Amino acid sequence: MSTRDLIYLDYAATTPVDPSVIGAMTRSLAAEGGCGNPSSLHAFGRRAAKRIEAARAEVAALIGAASEEIVFTSGATESDNLAVLGVAHAAAHRGRHVVSSRIEHKAGLDPCKRLEKEGFAVTLVTSDRSGRIDPGAVEAALRPETVLVSVMWVNNETGVIQDVAAIGALCRERGILYHTDAAQAVGKIPVAVHALPVDLLSFTAHKLYGPKGIGALYVRAGVRARVLPLLVGGGQEGGLRPGTLPTHQIVGFGAACALARALLEAEGPRLTALRERLWGQLRAIRGVHLNGEGAPRVPGVLNVSFEGVEGESLVTGLEELALSTGSACNSASSEPSYVLRALGRDSQLAQSSLRFSFGRFTTPEDIDRAAVAVQREVRRLRALSPATDLPGTGATADAEVVGEAGGPGRDVWIRFRLRVCSGRVSGVSHRVYGCPHTLAAAAWLAGRLPGRTGEELMPGTPAEWAQTLAVPVEKLGRLLTLEDALRECQRRWPAV
Ligand SMILES: *Cc1c(COP(=O)(O)O)cnc(C)c1O
Repeated sequence: MSTRDLIYLDYAATTPVDPSVIGAMTRSLAAEGGCGNPSSLHAFGRRAAKRIEAARAEVAALIGAASEEIVFTSGATESDNLAVLGVAHAAAHRGRHVVSSRIEHKAGLDPCKRLEKEGFAVTLVTSDRSGRIDPGAVEAALRPETVLVSVMWVNNETGVIQDVAAIGALCRERGILYHTDAAQAVGKIPVAVHALPVDLLSFTAHKLYGPKGIGALYVRAGVRARVLPLLVGGGQEGGLRPGTLPTHQIVGFGAACALARALLEAEGPRLTALRERLWGQLRAIRGVHLNGEGAPRVPGVLNVSFEGVEGESLVTGLEELALSTGSACNSASSEPSYVLRALGRDSQLAQSSLRFSFGRFTTPEDIDRAAVAVQREVRRLRALSPATDLPGTGATADAEVVGEAGGPGRDVWIRFRLRVCSGRVSGVSHRVYGCPHTLAAAAWLAGRLPGRTGEELMPGTPAEWAQTLAVPVEKLGRLLTLEDALRECQRRWPAV
């Protein structure tokens, strides 16, 4: 399938670069006289520096900051690291306690883990079932020695908007610095830092139609001295982030911010309408759950769980759509979405989630095609799922043996139903909930069972199956569940 036929619904992962941004970057790279090192004092350097300062003004304007309050970084990951580690390290002599939340992006969570290793205490506040962080819970976590609170503005999985004004106010009253990861907020909803009790704010160009590899940390005037840099070197960005500034990246970031500011007001309602259009069609499917229901959410994100349908299997079947799932099947971690778990979703519902995220180039036709495709795939996978296979369907063969393992709420659920004739398997049906590896292994096993006796029922070991089917070792646990179901069949094998 060519990418032209694909519907891109993963804007929360990254956005396409706007053509006008590409134009600005290309001109900047090719520009005669703009090729100097912006730190150089000659004409080439001065011209590059001028372009950077014009872009800095656009970046600042999008969030209602002053140019001097913008520190360019490589992206929101670095901005989060600089804010969390930089503030904590600078304040270590005054206090060693930091408050953050369980639903932060890893770019915010992992610096907190680093601080714990360094001897800081970290309190992670949990969200409620709608995905919101209660400012009261943040308040309860504060201690006299708290030096930083870091709670994100908009969650990247659910799109839920946090009450940054209330959280910031609690911090302001106590002289505690407040950082917010706004990578999913800036350019999506109005952000005006001068009117808010926010001291540090992370954002990144590639979530707002700019290039990857450039972002910024807003550092409120007067707060700079309370942040230690992560890098040392040439002293750029007031020493907070040394290194030669990448002129073309920054020009692209500036162009993207200017465009976002111009389009924000019109895009918000348009994307909200698309989101409601999508939800209107998906909610017609039975057993769907809206993650973040009841909480304020950004326009361009819709996160939905489908009972009995594993997310990765769903995504694999939805070849024509590009989107993300909370399933851990092929992600680097083996845990399903910790954000959805924090919302109180069980492991299976967290595994069964899809995140639809859309934006500037999404049309109503895209949304309708996506909804039809999802309806089709959910129906197909549900037909396989044990949850829909009610026991007691009358079998006509000599005997029937049923073996089941895993279960509702778990990552894998499998049921083999064997017809046994003259002591051998004469027919097999199976129902399965699981990731694509599990589905493939279950079908492969089912095909190997006919003709076998109870004793020789097991076709090899899970390790051998994994090798034959190229299942990664870390997924072996799922195959063990399949083995359990076959063992159950053996235990229930009819006596002769
Ligand atoms: C994308 C994202 C990041 C990471 O940003 P990069 O620029 O890719 O480093 C951090 N936090 C949130 C909430 C994000 O969505």
